[in-house]
Amino acid sequence: MTFDPTRAAGLARLADFVPRAGRAYAAERNTDRGPGDRSNVSTLSPWVRHRLVTEREIVEAVLQRHSLDAAGKFVQEVYWRTYWKGWLELRPSVWTRYTAAVAPALDALSAAERAAFDDAIAGRTGIEGFDDWARELVTTGYLHNHARMWFASIWIFTLRLPWQLGADFFLRHLLDGDPASNTLSWRWVAGLQTVGKTYLATTQNIEFATEGRFSPRGLATVAPSVDDDAPLPAPGPAPRPHPVPTGRIALLAHDDDLHAESLDLGGAEVVAVASPRSTSRPGSAPLVAEFVAGALADGRERAGVHYAAEASALDGITASAILPWLQVHTVTQLVTPYAPIGPVRDALDHLERDLAPEGVTLTRVLRPWDAHAWPHATRGFFPFREQIPALLRL
Ligand SMILES: Cc1cc2nc3c(=O)[nH]c(=O)nc-3n(C[C@H](O)[C@H](O)[C@H](O)COP(=O)(O)OP(=O)(O)OC[C@H]3O[C@@H](n4cnc5c(N)ncnc54)[C@H](O)[C@@H]3O)c2cc1C
Repeated sequence: MTFDPTRAAGLARLADFVPRAGRAYAAERNTDRGPGDRSNVSTLSPWVRHRLVTEREIVEAVLQRHSLDAAGKFVQEVYWRTYWKGWLELRPSVWTRYTAAVAPALDALSAAERAAFDDAIAGRTGIEGFDDWARELVTTGYLHNHARMWFASIWIFTLRLPWQLGADFFLRHLLDGDPASNTLSWRWVAGLQTVGKTYLATTQNIEFATEGRFSPRGLATVAPSVDDDAPLPAPGPAPRPHPVPTGRIALLAHDDDLHAESLDLGGAEVVAVASPRSTSRPGSAPLVAEFVAGALADGRERAGVHYAAEASALDGITASAILPWLQVHTVTQLVTPYAPIGPVRDALDHLERDLAPEGVTLTRVLRPWDAHAWPHATRGFFPFREQIPALLRL
């Protein structure tokens, strides 16, 4: 299982997987056969996370081959990703509180807890499966969905470690590490997302779904909801698309969306293209940093060819990195794909404030896929799921 950070590699993985995305996926997706056999899932997440391949392309390719009835489970899984992004977009404080809690949670560990934490991330707790998943995560950057659920459950309910530290460990090592899917999945396991409903990993389930590879002993037998001092915030408004400026623009492709070729830029003339150094994954493991750097280079080069514009690598999403580049090209309109809640979004917010006094505008292009779906992420996934057929027709 290799993850080459290019769109071409993502499309090849998609083409290979499409024949298996129908009923076979629904029947087999829950089985974790280990890193040597991932044929029952797509392993597309690192590419779709950075939008080297878009959700729309994945779903369209699958539905060209299968009916929605046959591929419904797979399509639904892709929409889980959209749902989590929309849910967080409507409740940004959940992300802010999580990021603010990580360092204090580490500082607050007792000596015994610190030792348990160190053992957990090094894969030396002695818990069968758990230790293997910790090592698999660090060496491959990928874990099967079921392994992620078991790992998070054992972390929280057996090892009794703070969920925020587990989420941070995942975010730093997963090639698909994503503020929404990761944070909200950890919260879901902890019972914070669907209030009162936790996820308990059991020996029996692990044994069954790993086809007997693992049979961990001594797991927690109860999973009481983790305490949280804040109730679920009410959903705020969903972002609305802004019109793309006309005339000469510079295009900034960032880590959250690297298929600039499919952005709707209206009649604007793209005179320059750039991508910044990775912004989305602060403190990430070298494997992740390498993947994202490769993805950014791939996205930048493709966009440059597509728009027949000079493609530059910039130092970051900061005014000091971006202004000189805009000045060379004598452009005052900067356009970028919309970034959902997370570090890229924060950097763009700062950038917009810093560019305004310089007479430069920043326009973020929201994709119709997100614009249509996110407003439905006000409640649980089940009401959201009912919208899928209508969303697919848009
Ligand atoms: C504790 C925990 C942490 C997670 N952290 C992340 C994360 O940081 N980034 C991430 O992309 N996913 C995360 N997931 C969701 C899910 O595990 C992965 O998206 C999925 O395993 C990726 O593998 P795949 O591409 O082979 O999935 P497939 O089964 O082939 O599914 C196809 C696509 O659907 C989407 N998808 C599938 N399941 C989920 C799900 N449960 N939630 C959201 N999207 C889903 C992904 O984009 C995936 O590529 C997490 C789940 C848990 C339980």
